[in-house]
Amino acid sequence: MEFSQYNVNALMYITPRPDLVFTEGKGMWLTDHKGKRYLDYLQGWAVNCLGHSPQCIQDALVAQSKKLINPSPAFYNAPAIELASLLTANSCFDRVFFANSGAEANEGAIKLARKWGQKNKHGAFEIITFDHGFHGRTLATMSASGKPGWDTIFAPQVTGFPKADLNDIASVEKLISETTVAVMLEPVQGEGGVLPASREFMQALRALTKKHNVLLIVDEVQSGMGRTGELFSYQLSGIEPDIMTLGKGIGGGVPLAALLCREEVACFVPGDQGGTYNGNPLITAVGVAVLQELLAPGFLASVHQKGDYLSQQLLQLSEQFGLQGERGEGLLRALRLGSDIGPKIVEIARDMEPVGLLLNSPRPDLLRFMPALNVSTEEIDQMIAMLAQVLTQLKK
Ligand SMILES: *Cc1c(COP(=O)(O)O)cnc(C)c1O
Repeated sequence: MEFSQYNVNALMYITPRPDLVFTEGKGMWLTDHKGKRYLDYLQGWAVNCLGHSPQCIQDALVAQSKKLINPSPAFYNAPAIELASLLTANSCFDRVFFANSGAEANEGAIKLARKWGQKNKHGAFEIITFDHGFHGRTLATMSASGKPGWDTIFAPQVTGFPKADLNDIASVEKLISETTVAVMLEPVQGEGGVLPASREFMQALRALTKKHNVLLIVDEVQSGMGRTGELFSYQLSGIEPDIMTLGKGIGGGVPLAALLCREEVACFVPGDQGGTYNGNPLITAVGVAVLQELLAPGFLASVHQKGDYLSQQLLQLSEQFGLQGERGEGLLRALRLGSDIGPKIVEIARDMEPVGLLLNSPRPDLLRFMPALNVSTEEIDQMIAMLAQVLTQLKK
């Protein structure tokens, strides 16, 4: 089929998209409407932690859809209970509320913190967040985000989100007052350009929030579910937060997210929180299947190994082409280009023949890599070779 035969203008315009319609995906590969294949280093924006259409997700969807799809959130269902139990058994948290997107999980975290502040801190409601942070696209989560320009596009903002600087503990301390209820951050800023919070900063933040009786919320929508080689990236610094949100990888591609907290913080009462699709068995059954794969012996160790390998290869490429190095944790990494050639690279790589390469440039001087967590070393080598080809072409 020709691209012009698709009535793409039936869709609301929200972002520029290339003239491609993807029709199939398997593992690290996508196929477009013309049958051209692409090596996919976006994976649905760090969503497909097991690659496109893995067998375990197909099986879970088929099996669960034959049993029960949605009894309503007013009743218990077995997959939701099983997934919540697996998550609490493998983290420092005791309670789980399921959501359908990262933004919705973060809205829940904000509500939970404010509720806790009403009960325990005389109505304290301010949540300190970070410059260049990203927490989603609802009004409150946009206000919590530190993306340039987001404070004005849908003014007025939701108030109560003063911004500190990542890895600068003094900038957080300065903002703490009687009205502060929580500090919320991504342990690795994803959309901001793959900027990890340092171990020391995470530890200092935990000490500071404890000292002031302030909650620590980690937004692990992008950094959680094995992405950094630990199941959750707060584990990299050995601290225990009070609240965590998950999204993206938790569903392996289907809409699933979660809000987790410790028992002392679980203060919602009936009427505070809910949602029609929240915790439905069809999607939580997928979550169980995905998490079991991540917890299989050796899986997370292999993410660490692949992350180290990708890091080495990117460094080598950086030296070869005079770029500015790389950074990241596990399989969430960025190549620092030193000039604003990111968008050009993305375009040339995608248009390569006979196979294309899908990359992301969250900032014009940066490329971000978020492969499936079960990417092979051959698929890393192939990406590096293709990227080298693009960089050579650009040098000419
Ligand atoms: C993607 C992302 C979100 C938003 O998740 P959605 O599912 O798109 O609502 C929130 N926080 C972080 C850190 C993210 O990367």
